Amino acid sequence: MRLRGNAPCWCGSGRKFKRCHGDQRAMRLRPVRPGRVSPILAVPATVTPPDYVNGSIPVTSTSFQIHTGESLERLRVACRVAAEVLDTVGREVRPGVTTEELDRVAHEAYVTRGAYPSTLSYKGYPKSICTSVNEVICHGIPDDRPLEEGDIVNVDVTAYIKGMHGDTSATFPVGRVDPTLRALIDVTREATLLGIAAVAPGRPLNAIGNAIQPYAFAHGFGVVVDYGGHGIGSVFHASPHVNHTVHEWDTIEFQPGMTFTVEPMITAGSPNHHMWSDGWTVAANDLLPTAQFEHTVIVTDSGAEILTLTGQGDSPAGTLSRVEEGTVSHRP
Ligand SMILES: [Zn+2]
Repeated sequence: MRLRGNAPCWCGSGRKFKRCHGDQRAMRLRPVRPGRVSPILAVPATVTPPDYVNGSIPVTSTSFQIHTGESLERLRVACRVAAEVLDTVGREVRPGVTTEELDRVAHEAYVTRGAYPSTLSYKGYPKSICTSVNEVICHGIPDDRPLEEGDIVNVDVTAYIKGMHGDTSATFPVGRVDPTLRALIDVTREATLLGIAAVAPGRPLNAIGNAIQPYAFAHGFGVVVDYGGHGIGSVFHASPHVNHTVHEWDTIEFQPGMTFTVEPMITAGSPNHHMWSDGWTVAANDLLPTAQFEHTVIVTDSGAEILTLTGQGDSPAGTLSRVEEGTVSHRP
């Protein structure tokens, strides 16, 4: 059950949750308004786009993506590139930078690595990343709004190279953020890693939601129900649909080689949401901040491996070793 406002805060301060890490007055920021979206950026002809960019309908495959050998090697490249783009963009997050500038940095980082930004022209989406600020849950379109001190922003990167998509995201603090929002970010990262750590061959798909939802609830946060992870590889969005909440009937068993994303969206307030008139931006109805992290993972013979890591083996979205080392506790 979700931690109640009058319950003692999980941090051990002895204060009520609603007066400590659940203080919604401290979390509430100025609502994000749609800004101006700049013209679409060009991709050099040397970079091969996915089929859907040239008019064909995006494939949403109902079969699983299973990768071994040569196709796995290509997927590893796409995932490494995605992690490097995310890392590059994350270093540019600071007060005063517009999300459009982050998009430009990302765009350059993709194409210099020979990758196509999978979101660009996907069903008409106009940018190379998604930037979801504060109460925006996902699919925010980069625009001319400068990031403000105290904001939080999720940057979602998908790279297409060698016929494969690699998908990863992280939420970054903008300058100094309130401790409640820092906790929201930390809990979301750990929830993502705990979900991944629950994956192993023979276990059911719902092991992910069974790990994530109680962890978020124990910290007093909500979990978005209607958006989930997805199979990924040669197809951007494939089966299975990965729920991050408890779904008893998700009993499909993981099998070695399956590749998919784990990407929980955790809310400070209610997970209920609405869509902006742009047809993409999904925002929390109560306008309280939300955070998200995402990795592309593969089921191994004994567990799961995160594929979206840089050449140095790290990522702003965290790595599994952090869970294995038992660093799932938080301080105020
Ligand atoms: Zn607390």
